[in-house]
Amino acid sequence: MKSYLIDPSPALPLSQGRESSLYVHVPFCEKKCGYCSFYSVIADDRNISAWLEGIAREAEKYSGAKIRTLYIGGGTPTVLTMPQWQKLMTIIRHSFDLSELTEATAEANPNSLTEEHAEFLRDNNFSRISLGVQSLNDDELKALGRIHDSRQAVRAMEIVRDSGLNLSCDLIFATPGQTLRSWDYSLRTVMNYVSHISTYQLTLEPDTPMGRIYGDDDLNAAGYKFYRYAQYFLPKHGFFQYEISSFAREGSECSHNIAYWNHSEVIALGPSASGYIDGVRITNPRTLEAWLSGTEPERETLSPRERVIELAILSLRTKWGIPRKDIMPEIEAVLLEMPSDLFIMTPERIALSPKGMRLGNAIWCELLGV
Ligand code: SF4
Repeated sequence: MKSYLIDPSPALPLSQGRESSLYVHVPFCEKKCGYCSFYSVIADDRNISAWLEGIAREAEKYSGAKIRTLYIGGGTPTVLTMPQWQKLMTIIRHSFDLSELTEATAEANPNSLTEEHAEFLRDNNFSRISLGVQSLNDDELKALGRIHDSRQAVRAMEIVRDSGLNLSCDLIFATPGQTLRSWDYSLRTVMNYVSHISTYQLTLEPDTPMGRIYGDDDLNAAGYKFYRYAQYFLPKHGFFQYEISSFAREGSECSHNIAYWNHSEVIALGPSASGYIDGVRITNPRTLEAWLSGTEPERETLSPRERVIELAILSLRTKWGIPRKDIMPEIEAVLLEMPSDLFIMTPERIALSPKGMRLGNAIWCELLGV
């Protein structure tokens, strides 16, 4: 079986030639969605110029790092105009070595993705676009406070398909008013365009507009059936679940996300972005103002024990699970006490079964108590 688990403690200093993944947070959107608790502000040219200058300064700190996977996320990276994209890629090329890049992804939203964006990304060695489709039902999109409709979502998927780039779509389930029939329609439609699907249950923080209207408990109860349906439907159509939220055609798994789940090194640029270097989680100041003013990032050093527990939880999110040779005896003991139908156990490794994936949160809580 293929293993992506590697030694989580690279000892090299941050310098020329060091290998890493790179995440760049674009903290701009056209309008705030009703459920969103990510950090983003409404895009305007002045803020974007200041952000680009900040990215250039921050990138210099990691100058010379060799980037294996690149992910431009947000926010909404497709609110950047073509000259702004050009400037961003010039900064990244100036500071980093992209000669061994294996995957590059840009997030996009259906209402702002243009043919020019797709062509630019393809011509700049991007391999994937991750599109925030969320649903193909207009009532659900309205309930979520999205500014696109299903027609625009299909058009955006056509743009990516015609560009030759790989497409991943995000879909949200447990939206108020959603039915299994509409969920089936969204899954069935995106399946024709994509090689990767990420499914997320709608979760509502109390400080979001939707969170002030709906109770999270009701949505949690509803979420189980939609998730279970995706686990049944997608593998039947060639999309295999390789992580709690991720389904892909064989060979289309997201290497950048796998780097996070392996505790590999991730350099993160931009406000609120979070990276991981030498066992230290580095989280940038949350707001654009604080980040631009030079406020220091938060640094959380994980003890060796915390690293092992965190790596076990991250590994269990994936279909590859935890190699038995690496597992801490206390963690193994906790897992073996749980119902056996939550796991797929082999002499080499322990992974979650589809049922275990559905109950992942309860399993993490047990492991955090080790
Ligand atoms: S587009 Fe994404 S990041 Fe922007 S407000 Fe909506 S959910 Fe949040």
